[in-house]
Amino acid sequence: MSDDVLTMSSDTRAKREAVIQFMEDHIYPSEGALQQGGDEAEALMASLQAKTKELGLWAPHLPAEAGGMGIGFLPYAYLNEVIGRSTAAPRAFGSQAPDSGNAEVLHQYGTPEQKEKWLAPLVNGDIRSCFSMTEPAVSGADPTGLQTTAVREGDEWVINGRKWFSSGAVGSSFAVVMCVTDPDQPPHSRMSQVLVPTDTPGFSIEREVAVWGDAHSNHPIVRYDNVRVPVTNLLGEQGAGFKIAQRRLGPGRIHHCMRALGQAQRAFDLMCQHSLKREAFGGPLADKQTMQNWVADSLVNIQAARLLTMQAARKIDQGDEARMEVSAIKFFVVNVTCDVIDKAIQVHGALGVTADTPLQAMYKGARTLRIADGPDEVHRMVVARHALRTYRQGETWDFAAD
Ligand SMILES: Cc1cc2nc3c(=O)[nH]c(=O)nc-3n(C[C@H](O)[C@H](O)[C@H](O)COP(=O)(O)OP(=O)(O)OC[C@H]3O[C@@H](n4cnc5c(N)ncnc54)[C@H](O)[C@@H]3O)c2cc1C
Repeated sequence: MSDDVLTMSSDTRAKREAVIQFMEDHIYPSEGALQQGGDEAEALMASLQAKTKELGLWAPHLPAEAGGMGIGFLPYAYLNEVIGRSTAAPRAFGSQAPDSGNAEVLHQYGTPEQKEKWLAPLVNGDIRSCFSMTEPAVSGADPTGLQTTAVREGDEWVINGRKWFSSGAVGSSFAVVMCVTDPDQPPHSRMSQVLVPTDTPGFSIEREVAVWGDAHSNHPIVRYDNVRVPVTNLLGEQGAGFKIAQRRLGPGRIHHCMRALGQAQRAFDLMCQHSLKREAFGGPLADKQTMQNWVADSLVNIQAARLLTMQAARKIDQGDEARMEVSAIKFFVVNVTCDVIDKAIQVHGALGVTADTPLQAMYKGARTLRIADGPDEVHRMVVARHALRTYRQGETWDFAAD
């Protein structure tokens, strides 16, 4: 039996069991130590990475020829919803964003030299990277207005601009930078992606940006002041920046949704366990009708969100860009996740807003995802446009269509 939206193959089930076991044996017990940061946390992370490599669970998002597990997108969805239960886990499994997306585009569009120089060490976990597209001065939801330029001078690109939310830039070895290279072309052909080593003169971190009060969230403002890189650092074709971004962001959004599902599942577990344990007004919270409504609504919403995500993953596996499906899950799954975590916090009372449970950190992450990778409103717009196009053509939307 092969993997489908409703069923796992025995092979995927076995791999999923191995991931669940690894989470229980190694990830959850390490969360506190990893959160401390510093040299000890890095050494612990390196030992976890060595273990996942040994178990054959490394880089589940990548094909085998790129150094990954080579399992395909839908099986990866089944594994990633488990990996996503802890924010510490993706790095331990070699599938941390934005490295995962950068590895995918390098594998797809990189030259043999670029792959040797950047992809191999990135997949191996030896270096980290960032994706530098959004700019503080213009709307990230509508990236046709991006202003950072790359001008060709001889055998070099000269880059000037100011980006922010280049997640992970502090400590990265290279950035994939979205630049205007062809200002006179139509909006979606104006940009290219250029690989910039972060030790190139002119690349600098202007400042860190505190996100939810975390001064070291690593979504900094990055400056590119006359940054010169060889023309061979162009990723893919000149003017193909949007096409490559689309190729990256589609699967990347599914990755985010899979991880969000993991967070929703963990919040659901905590909600149910606490409501059975905590007593008030003569009995466990779980006996109150309101709690039962929350448990029931959360269970059904998580499963609906899972099935939509699996359907989108299957379409990607079949070679379809699944644009409508990806936008649909991007707002639906993330909102379900926010809602389930919010309810789990409420069930825990004051405990829910302390750092004694992971819930408050999980809420911040899920709420942030309603903006990152395109805000809810833009994804709703994409879904509505798809549906309305059908009616404009005099047809009706077929919910049974694949
Ligand atoms: C935690 C985090 C990590 C990120 N990581 C990266 C990264 O690694 N690399 C990178 O390049 N970027 C990254 N981003 C940036 C992210 O992609 C942008 O924040 C996002 O695309 C929105 O752009 P913006 O913030 O400029 O909001 P704007 O474009 O200014 O939009 C503001 C608001 O306007 C509303 N809006 C916009 N368009 C419409 C519309 N058509 N209809 C109705 N309402 C609309 C929405 O409510 C939206 O939230 C990250 C962001 C976050 C929060």
